[in-house]
Amino acid sequence: MARKNFDLIVIGGGSGGLACAQRAAQYGAKVLLAESARLGGTCVNVGCVPKKVMWNAANIAEAAADARYYGFDIEYRSHDWSALRHARDAYITRLNGIYERNLAAKNIEFVRNRASFVASHEIRIGDELFEAPRVVIATGGRPILPSIPGSEYGITSDGFFELDHLPSRTAIVGGGYIAVELAGVLQALGSKVTLAFRRDRVLRHFDSILSDTLMKIMRDEGATLIDHAAPRALERDIDGSLRLLFDDGRQAGPFDSVIWAVGREPLVDKLALDRAGIRLDSRGFIPVDRYQETTVADVYAIGDVTGQAQLTPVAIAAGRRLADRLWGGMAGRHLDYGNIPTVVFSHPPIGTVGLSESEAIDRYGAHDVKIYTSGFVPMYHALTPRKPRAEMKLVTVGADERIVGCHVIGAGADEMLQGFAVAVRMGATKRDFDDTIAIHPTSAEEFVTMR
Ligand code: FAD
Ligand code: NDP
Repeated sequence: MARKNFDLIVIGGGSGGLACAQRAAQYGAKVLLAESARLGGTCVNVGCVPKKVMWNAANIAEAAADARYYGFDIEYRSHDWSALRHARDAYITRLNGIYERNLAAKNIEFVRNRASFVASHEIRIGDELFEAPRVVIATGGRPILPSIPGSEYGITSDGFFELDHLPSRTAIVGGGYIAVELAGVLQALGSKVTLAFRRDRVLRHFDSILSDTLMKIMRDEGATLIDHAAPRALERDIDGSLRLLFDDGRQAGPFDSVIWAVGREPLVDKLALDRAGIRLDSRGFIPVDRYQETTVADVYAIGDVTGQAQLTPVAIAAGRRLADRLWGGMAGRHLDYGNIPTVVFSHPPIGTVGLSESEAIDRYGAHDVKIYTSGFVPMYHALTPRKPRAEMKLVTVGADERIVGCHVIGAGADEMLQGFAVAVRMGATKRDFDDTIAIHPTSAEEFVTMR
């Protein structure tokens, strides 16, 4: 069979694959991109984008409930889930079309089919064979279903975006990003939420000020949080309702919907990586060096499939830097995975960059670490009966108090952190923060007025 030749074959049209393909094409590379599902990948179709739409809706529900304390003659009675879903899905369909047109505009050959390796630089897509001296794997991941009896009665984040109505009683299992984000959305839109996680706290890799505050606020807002709860089985009762059984004999339920948010696994099983000689790490991800190169020369992997900081901007940055280095003449260019800022779209949101207090103490020793904190009820809530607090922490090290960690939970945290992340990356000290004039009245000003 005749092979078609390209300079670059990209497998996967999600955040990383699209970014890499387009940057390489801008430099003049002849690029082929294969995508087996919808263009845009996880982020656009079942991740960041639909999640943020739901988060916005939840914020509006909260604001509608608060409105009367600001003098509005508004009573929030109900919400039309299916209208929201329809508008959200239409927006995503528009985005899918924009991505496809962008590929055409950049002369990237797009094949909508599954790709697999025939050899390290030879790829089968459908019935056709393609060859390129450079191949990028950007196949992302999928949500995990726990291997316990009855797990199939539950849904994952993918299923959450297919729900055609708001479940009245929802259990969410897991204590990571997706668990707390979906819990916040469902709670704000009126579901009775139970969050079950297997340790003492949610978001256990984050600074404890963030997880402790979030758990308190979630409980104050009416969610049930069950800690140290490792699921053993999910049972369906005769009336169709669901019940969670935990290892220690506890039970929770009944629920109308149970959402597993227990992590994601890499999408590698259909790639026939063995034919290319590419090895996986112990967790099943594709290991790469600092230049995103796999164990096979000129075969690269970017984004979630590598198991490093599973975030859209990380996949995009890795893909663009790779193209910059290979086709843009920028020798040595690669992604530095340190100090990656991230936001959890919980209610309220969390923003964090750098080291937590305990990570800083482990790395530098307690004597070298100085912590500054600030906690308050944001002014918005001066007029509302609910009083979710904001908490902030700066982690500094050394005599010059270089800021190595910047953490915030509270309304506005999501939009607050990007600029502070620049400062942390540039090596800002506490003195730099102190010398910056505050913007008043905001929550962000607390970051530059801490004593
Ligand atoms: P993906 O975007 O998953 O793209 C991989 C693509 O490869 C898919 O389209 C897949 O169909 C395709 N593919 C797989 N195998 C093949 C094959 N053999 N042949 C052809 N195509 C193939 N990140 C953030 O930064 N902010 C957020 O707010 C955020 N929210 C999220 C919310 C949820 C619910 C989830 C699940 C994730 C969220 N993320 C968020 C993470 C973000 O979506 C991912 O980090 C990002 O999409 C990873 O990009 P990627 O290119 O590595 O993979
Ligand atoms: P996370 O890795 O964030 O969290 C997984 C959670 O599941 C952890 O709390 C883990 O517990 C728990 N868990 C794992 N296995 C089990 C099990 N068998 N039983 C019970 N609990 C279990 O994964 P998510 O699925 O929430 O999200 C995947 C990734 O997607 C995130 O890491 C993030 O990179 C990205 N994402 C980013 C978002 C953003 O930027 N806002 C939003 C959503 C996702 P334990 O802590 O005990 O290990």
